Amino acid sequence: MSPKTDLLFQADSYQQSCAARVVAVDDRGIQLDRTVFYANSGGQPGDTGWLMLPHGEQLRIIDTRKGEVPGEIIHVPEAGAKLPALGSEVEARIDWQRRYRHMRFHTSLHLLSKVLAVPATGNQIAEDKARADFTELPGALDKAAIEQQLNALIAEGHEVRVTWIDEAELDRRPELVRTLYALPPRGQGTLRLIDIVDTDQQPCGGTHVANTREIGPIQVLKIENKGKENKRVVLGFAAGSA
Ligand SMILES: [Zn+2]
Repeated sequence: MSPKTDLLFQADSYQQSCAARVVAVDDRGIQLDRTVFYANSGGQPGDTGWLMLPHGEQLRIIDTRKGEVPGEIIHVPEAGAKLPALGSEVEARIDWQRRYRHMRFHTSLHLLSKVLAVPATGNQIAEDKARADFTELPGALDKAAIEQQLNALIAEGHEVRVTWIDEAELDRRPELVRTLYALPPRGQGTLRLIDIVDTDQQPCGGTHVANTREIGPIQVLKIENKGKENKRVVLGFAAGSA
């Protein structure tokens, strides 16, 4: 039986640190009873940061991944680091600058699928750019128009709310599923739903800003054709908003 980690970022993506206890240590890394670290999934990279150990030592965390067993969240330490003992009390602290950029890009990808009005089939977020792939988009896309619509939605300052939805309700409302790749795990009766008020609703397990205005001005860096009806849209932060 693998220890289950309480995922604090699901309720509050702005929490940068938490007290936690080490519940497993192996050659993959460290598991905690609770964490603010987001594990790599849905195109959003795993968080990096530090575990502050007893006696003032710091352990650098270079990645966060899901383990093979559902519910496992592995904090990956830098190579050769001395690992904390099982049961240690630590403080888990993420690299907030990096995570916040991921949150801004991640939220902008929700808005992009709204602008294009088709489901994304995949995405990848980095600190300096983010991309999403779309099928069912025949014809050329107007890069300038997409950028303008995206920035209009951002500037309108829509609140972003986290709610929970019954799986049964989701089955009745399949139109909610815009991002087929980022579906949070099912089987618990409820799913996490991200509601960009008056704009877009979709189930998602990632981290988002609280208001679209926080994203800041976005640039459409390029639109690539990936076959007849498939497109890849690459976003960056506009100069001055990075
Ligand atoms: Zn999301």
